[in-house]
Amino acid sequence: MRTDGFEERWNVEARKTSTPTGPGLSSGMTSLDDIRPRLEAALAPLLVEVDAPLAPLTTFRIGGPADFLVRVRTADELERALRTATEFEVPWFLLGHGANILVGDAGFRGIVIRCEVAGIDFLDGDRVRAGAGVEMHPDLINATVARGLGGLHHFVGIPSTVGGALWQNLHFLAPARDRTVFIEEVLESAELLTEDGERVTVDVDYFEFGYDKSVLHHRADIVLSATFRLTPQPVEELREVVRSNLEWRDDRHPDLWLYPSAGSIFQKIEGIGAGRLIDECGLKGHVHGGAGIFHRHANIIVNHGGATAAEVRALIDLARETVARETGHELTPEISFIGDFGVLE
Ligand SMILES: Cc1cc2nc3c(=O)[nH]c(=O)nc-3n(C[C@H](O)[C@H](O)[C@H](O)COP(=O)(O)OP(=O)(O)OC[C@H]3O[C@@H](n4cnc5c(N)ncnc54)[C@H](O)[C@@H]3O)c2cc1C
Repeated sequence: MRTDGFEERWNVEARKTSTPTGPGLSSGMTSLDDIRPRLEAALAPLLVEVDAPLAPLTTFRIGGPADFLVRVRTADELERALRTATEFEVPWFLLGHGANILVGDAGFRGIVIRCEVAGIDFLDGDRVRAGAGVEMHPDLINATVARGLGGLHHFVGIPSTVGGALWQNLHFLAPARDRTVFIEEVLESAELLTEDGERVTVDVDYFEFGYDKSVLHHRADIVLSATFRLTPQPVEELREVVRSNLEWRDDRHPDLWLYPSAGSIFQKIEGIGAGRLIDECGLKGHVHGGAGIFHRHANIIVNHGGATAAEVRALIDLARETVARETGHELTPEISFIGDFGVLE
């Protein structure tokens, strides 16, 4: 068994989903047919999709189906879906835009709850509250920039829901490219459904934010909405940053339509760069089946068409083993591995 970060990372999601493998949903439920009518009745009028493809719901466009999928558009629906899954002891996973995950080829045994909780409300002056399923870009960023409110505009072009952005402490370079801007800098408060089943409003300190980190990695709290305090700025200035950031990203990042990906695969190594290490080991552009290490940015793995999760995992292993052997540095995946990957080697 591995004892490094890779295995730990796996376990984060295994905890949340409780039983990542096997056809039985829980000890009490022996088959999907048993649970299906009860789930449908409990969740009505929400539609419960059965054997639902997950690949189209991820930016990697890889992975097998979920036993069940339900899309929730309000905080109450999200709470109901979570309570139902818990009550029926069905493993669940909360999906946002699917931009920071790799789904296993055998899919997900249980119910995937797609967070589409909507709503953008401008409060007094410079504050905005957004539902957890709101797309950061274009929806929330365009709305705030149009009102001359700065702070979220730095994250233009990054695929993410509001909930996913807090999970990860979304970040990008400041306009002068001399520092990193984090979403925690503009977050004022958030409404959560805690892992204990309570609805509470918490402030930014609750999240214990770090680089690619928040308390949500350790607690199964769910973000229902977030309130941001922004800074009034001339619209033209904001648009200039938006334009420049999109151009910067275009030059370095794969176009998701041509090269589906999950963004950076490995965590940042301060002052060195995970991508640079992979590049120095001669792996830039290396292809395995339908997956490949992106030719312009070695910390990104892309789906060239028909890639499997197993192929991506093989490339991740290759990069980690090669970099460890040739440079002594350890690469730790920053993406989450969701569902059934079969037996770990
Ligand atoms: C091309 C590309 C470029 C990228 N560039 C950047 C970048 O510059 N900076 C950066 O920071 N990231 C970047 N990323 C990574 C990604 O965009 C972020 O991690 C994003 O915040 C993921 O949000 P999501 O909604 O897709 O979450 P998902 O991938 O769907 O889920 C990620 C995790 O968040 C949890 N989650 C989702 N919603 C909630 C909620 N409401 N409450 C609690 N937990 C929740 C999920 O359960 C899961 O554990 C990039 C990704 C891609 C594909």
